[in-house]
Order: sequence, then structure tokens, then C-alpha cells
Amino acid sequence: MKTVGMPRGLFYYYYYPWYKTFFNDLGARVILSSPTTRITIDQGINKAVDETCFPIKVYFGHVQELCQYDLDYLFVPRIVSIEARSYICPKFMGVPDMIRASFSSLPPLIDITIDLSRSQRSFKEELYKTGQLFSKSRRRIKAAEEHSSQELKYCQTIAAQGYTMAEAIDIWEGQELTSTWDSDLCIGVLGHGYSLYDQTISLDIIGRLRKMGCRVVLPEVLPGERVENEAATMPKRIFWTLGRKMVGSAFSMEKMPEIDGIIYVACFGCGPDSFIGEIIERKLKGKPYMMLVIDEHTGEGGLVTRLEAFCDMLRRRRRQKIEDNLPAYG
Ligand code: SF4
Repeated sequence: MKTVGMPRGLFYYYYYPWYKTFFNDLGARVILSSPTTRITIDQGINKAVDETCFPIKVYFGHVQELCQYDLDYLFVPRIVSIEARSYICPKFMGVPDMIRASFSSLPPLIDITIDLSRSQRSFKEELYKTGQLFSKSRRRIKAAEEHSSQELKYCQTIAAQGYTMAEAIDIWEGQELTSTWDSDLCIGVLGHGYSLYDQTISLDIIGRLRKMGCRVVLPEVLPGERVENEAATMPKRIFWTLGRKMVGSAFSMEKMPEIDGIIYVACFGCGPDSFIGEIIERKLKGKPYMMLVIDEHTGEGGLVTRLEAFCDMLRRRRRQKIEDNLPAYG
């Protein structure tokens, strides 16, 4: 059986069920790198160029881990676009080239180009070429592709119940997780999935908020059409897929009365985050908003203090609202 190594980073958090089902259905075994640790981060920092952003450095660390296995292939897609008239950040396009330039000994890369900005046709051809590495049957490759899309949709419906994408993937893999968290506050949390749902990159912001008594609402819970409609209220269309999702989600969350405040988790060194976070900050008028910028040097203590202070402020605000509504006669 052929083996395909898959780094647990970047679009793993959005597409792993698709990738895994596709390769498994074609008879390949997927070997996933371990969850991110401090060692992964340090290895990534040593390998990646300084100018790149934190999640890309972490991705390099995952590739480094996979290099120690005897793999037939390493799956490092070149993601350009995942929908019409929209793009993913240019750093994604260069990932396979950066990996080739930084590692002296690599298994053969599957660097399929995923570009759905104009038509599905070239993508299907790329997919077919990838499938041919494992099966000569066009019908089998097509069936694998259809099955992969179904599995991805199933995983997305799990995430829509309030789980993070990482938790949804665990449930999709057959693990049992609890979904009951005691909460007296509700906070919308935004961020690119590969930083937000990686517990080490985000310093487990979501887990910490839940422990502080917050219900967390994530972009995956919101209906896609509503997010698009809200993002479309911007004077100019945002052509970055994730940027548009963040803006549309923030505007949607602003209109949800149960949400007390919004947190945006941005990565240091991220161009799109630096102005998408700014746009959200300027446009949001109705809800408290906090932007947290994280990188490999972010300390746990400072982060916890900021989260606690934000929650305290939201609780005070809530109490104030209730007191303001009390009639003068008691
Ligand atoms: S969008 Fe930002 S965080 Fe994501 S890969 Fe690009 S620069 Fe890095």
C-alpha cells in the first residue's frame, strides 16, 4: 500500500476529511503529522524564511516531522483559489516551492494546483493526474472525488453544531466529544482556521474561553449565505476568501443579540489580517471587539490576562444593562 504524508497545518483544518477520503478510496494510506508542539514550532522556525507568517512556519515543522518517515509521497497542495472570483493568500501558492527550497531530502511531492477561481475543469484534470498515481481507473478516481465531497460536507455539519474544525475532524474520525460547556457569556471568535483551531498556535484560546464560562460562536456555525450577504455590504468586494469570511462573520455576529463581544485572532506577519482586522474594528459599532495578534513569542500569561479582562468587562456591561433596565420603584 502506498503512503501519503500529510502535514497537520494550513488547510488541513478545512479539508482533511476530503483529502483523507480521496487517498484512502484510491487505496493509499494517509500518515498525518502529530498535533503541533513547541518542537514543531522550533523546527519550523529553523527551516522557514524569517519573513513568512507564523502558520507557514508551523507547517514547515510538520513537514520536517514527516520527513523522518519512509513515505511514497508528501501531499503539499498549491492552493490558489477554492471558489469563483476569490483567492487564498499568495503565501499558499508558494508553499510547495518554499518547501522544495528549504529541505534537502524530501519524498516526491504531490503539489496539485487547486484553483477554482475560473473553472472547475483544470482542477478536475489536476485531480485526475493525482489519482493516477494510485489508480488507472478514471471511474474510481471520480467516485473517490464524489465520496470525498460528501465526507467533507458531513464534517462541516458537525462543525456547524458549535465544534471547532479540529473537534469536528476528531468526531468525524470516530472520537466522542462533549458539547456541553457551562456559560454565562457568549463570545464570537474569528480567525483563520489554521491558527484558531491549532491549540498550540492559538494557545488554546477557545478552550480557555470555555473554561472562563463563555460559549464560543465560530464562523463555521453561521450560514454561508448570510456571511456572504453581510460581507457584500462593504463598498468593494473582498476577493480574499478568508478575509471575506471574517468580515461577513463579524458583521453577522454584531447582529446576534446573544453575542456579548467579538475577538479576532490574527497572526503576526499576516498582511491580510492586518487590514481585515482593522476594517472590522472600524465598522463594528454595536459590540465590544478585541484583536489578539499571536506569534511564536506570545506568552500565555499576557494572553490569559487579556482574555480575563475582556470577559470581566463583558460581564460588567451585562450587569449594567440589567441595572439600567430596573424601574426606579425597584
Ligand atoms: S493569510 Fe496570513 S496567516 Fe494565512 S498564510 Fe497568508 S499571511 Fe499567513
